[in-house]
Amino acid sequence: MAARAGARPYEARVPKILLVEDNELNRDMLSRRLSRRGFEVVVAVDGEEGLALAGAEAPDLVLMDMSLPKLDGWAATKALKADPATRAIPVIALTAHAMRGDREKALAAGCDDYDTKPVDLPRLLKKVEALLAKRA
Ligand code: MN
Repeated sequence: MAARAGARPYEARVPKILLVEDNELNRDMLSRRLSRRGFEVVVAVDGEEGLALAGAEAPDLVLMDMSLPKLDGWAATKALKADPATRAIPVIALTAHAMRGDREKALAAGCDDYDTKPVDLPRLLKKVEALLAKRA
């Protein structure tokens, strides 16, 4: 039973979050804040890249901006949820304005939860942790 010095017996794997956001400022800020909280963060700048990285990176969760170039967040989420390889990945929709019906629209597209921007990090992290706990 030769344990490596410093090895922790039950080291938790770092959860990987895919952040799909076209706004560079929002993307950089949120990815930095998530990294500081101990998440591994992968970023995509549009819906097409988001879809590709959801398949290639197998993230534990996706934060999906809804207003995106090439493929919007609703279409990207629908495609993600239609693919058996990615459908189990929880998706939290992010929209810039709390439009009436946005939440329903996001859930109808297959999103698991919904939040509004500007991001309230403690509130968003609660939703992230709840979905990650469900998966564990
Ligand atoms: Mn956007």
